[in-house]
Amino acid sequence: MAHIQQVSQVTGEQQIENTYTSAATARDVHPELLLAMNTRLAKSQGQSATSENRNPSSDDLPKVSFTHTEAGYGTRASHNAPIPEEVQRYAREHGLKVKLADGNYEYHLIANGRDKLIASVDSRTPLKDGFRQVDDQINPLVHQKMAELKARFGADFSTNNEYASFKDDRGHHKIPCREPDLKELAAAEAALSKNVRGSGAAPKLYFLKHNIDGYYGADALTGKDESGRKAIFIQSSFAYERATNADGTYRGRSMEYVLAHELNHAARLDDPGHSRDNSPLAPATPEEIARYDRTGWSVIADKSGNKCWALRGKNGEYYTLVDTFADAEWVRVNKNGELLRGDGKPFPPDDLRDPEKYRALLEADSFLRFDQVRQRAKVTPPTSCFTGPEEELCDAEALFHDRDKRAWLLRLSPQVYDVAKELDQERIDRSYGKGADGKPIKVRNSDGEIVDATNENLESIRQFEEDGKKIPPRKY
Ligand SMILES: [Zn+2]
Repeated sequence: MAHIQQVSQVTGEQQIENTYTSAATARDVHPELLLAMNTRLAKSQGQSATSENRNPSSDDLPKVSFTHTEAGYGTRASHNAPIPEEVQRYAREHGLKVKLADGNYEYHLIANGRDKLIASVDSRTPLKDGFRQVDDQINPLVHQKMAELKARFGADFSTNNEYASFKDDRGHHKIPCREPDLKELAAAEAALSKNVRGSGAAPKLYFLKHNIDGYYGADALTGKDESGRKAIFIQSSFAYERATNADGTYRGRSMEYVLAHELNHAARLDDPGHSRDNSPLAPATPEEIARYDRTGWSVIADKSGNKCWALRGKNGEYYTLVDTFADAEWVRVNKNGELLRGDGKPFPPDDLRDPEKYRALLEADSFLRFDQVRQRAKVTPPTSCFTGPEEELCDAEALFHDRDKRAWLLRLSPQVYDVAKELDQERIDRSYGKGADGKPIKVRNSDGEIVDATNENLESIRQFEEDGKKIPPRKY
């Protein structure tokens, strides 16, 4: 696991897979992620997959559908008049869809469940001139939106020719940046509009021109930049078909969803009682331990005092994620902090870093796939993003900001729902204050909006939760 230390403010993503994308179309999953998933799958199938675990349950196979079909855009539009690959690539690189209509190349932004015409150019225009004309139409919109989001939310965005500078345990990074495109800005706007920061300042969003070494398969990292400002570093591989949650079904991830997750990390940095480090060895605060305990996580210390976060199983057993010679693996751990082989015998942590001993552990069925761990967990992690308790909770909060995903969270993992709701309300109360009676002034309604805590709004939330609870949580 990548563990960033620079005052330990950056949290690495290790989202190899997600419930929502476990069987999603390739359009929804970045090729690098698919590769990582396949590698992982190939490896795990060489392990101890039992028949009931080898395939995800049918419930786990999302039927991904899109609000907007591809019809009319790109190659499929082009039975008679194909749209040149350069034009399609230009559109892709600007987060837009292109179609040929009335002799014009029309560039459309698909976001918030809507299709908006952004720019248009005569298709007979020489390509380079055409791109320049489209640039002239798009660029003012980009800059206008960046200024608007700065004014509304305090968020800043990287510009072209700027560098992102920060430190992690691999050293100092200085990575060239670019300004976001309209699709990314639509996603950021959707995520920012639902994010409540509590007392902290807004982050800066850096769109990197290349990925950060060592964060393979990660969409983004949250931490601080060299100036000490909270920052979200978005990898160049960040790519989702959907800009916002409204552009698909509740089962799909979107750019908005991922940015919401990162904004939750950023808000977490300012939460009282947060240890500001979600690494496994972090000295968690008592408040944090108590909160995460309710989501099924315990801190376990070995006899040398080394601590790890461990997820409790249904039968009182524990699972922890460890770095190995080859990768990170889930392994059982007992209450004394001893790692356990497949046969239940303890083994020293150094064995994980020795290729031969690692292999022997692998052959002894000592490692578990994340889906096996998820099935065995006492409190079900709502998504497969649960490399640690903060990861799990930040993902749960991203679900909480969206009506359909929030209902899903409630059904699947009511305990995690309660903790996500409580943490969210604490931030809302810090942002908006409480009434003289000590009750909240604002609450988040089931659509994810921050509204007055009127009886009517509270009743609507109660009704939403009651309806959601009527559907039993999925069994693992
Ligand atoms: Zn994360």
